[in-house]
Amino acid sequence: MSPCAGCHAGCCRAFAVPLTGADILRIERELVWTFWDFVCRWEDLDGAIAGNLAPHFHFADEPETPFAICLLHTASRNFPGTTKCRFLMEEPPSREHPLGTAQCGIYSVRPGGCRAFPTRLHSSGLMAVLHEVPERGRLAEPEDAYVLCPRAWEPADVDPIAAPQELVVLHYEMQFFAQVAQVWNRAPGEWEDFPEFLRLVYANRVQAAEPGSATVEFKPADSAKPQMRAA
Ligand code: SF4
Ligand code: SF4
Repeated sequence: MSPCAGCHAGCCRAFAVPLTGADILRIERELVWTFWDFVCRWEDLDGAIAGNLAPHFHFADEPETPFAICLLHTASRNFPGTTKCRFLMEEPPSREHPLGTAQCGIYSVRPGGCRAFPTRLHSSGLMAVLHEVPERGRLAEPEDAYVLCPRAWEPADVDPIAAPQELVVLHYEMQFFAQVAQVWNRAPGEWEDFPEFLRLVYANRVQAAEPGSATVEFKPADSAKPQMRAA
């Protein structure tokens, strides 16, 4: 049985989950929600949220501050005074589950970072490697909400087909998002303009070949800002 069965989902409480533009647009489309319903920017001065995976973005109101683009957190009902991912659905504590249980409310469209946890891509790019999950997150905050997995993960807990494939997609989408960040950060715009920028960038991700040419020029995000200025 997966360690997640019957868990209160400390991972969805303790961590800020970095998103890619593809995660954001897919969730918007599937839920018919807006960016502002589930996305936030988290100040990430020491890079702990982004890790070596997610890009930082800067914005005109705080140009010196690196931000990670993350899932929004809301207040927890089961653990007053703590927060959780806004998509986490909580069931109250019971005798069998004193911390309560919780399920992802968007499991089929959850972000790549959620799909990958607790694995990372092997340096070969061909295998998944299990992280050693610590006993708890947010060490400065003693609440039980932030206790993590009830037992250590083992390779048999992870789907050997799906896990490497999902890690490869996450790596690829984060690489693309890093290029998007490079373009945005050359002249950081306002936070409220960011969703429209993303929409324009990803709308341009599929292009027709020039007649008579076998290649298409790769320009992931450069075209979006001029369009925004013209709008
Ligand atoms: S804390 Fe660990 S066991 Fe619990 S839901 Fe998250 S990954 Fe699964
Ligand atoms: S989207 Fe789902 S899996 Fe990811 S942090 Fe939120 S509740 Fe957890």
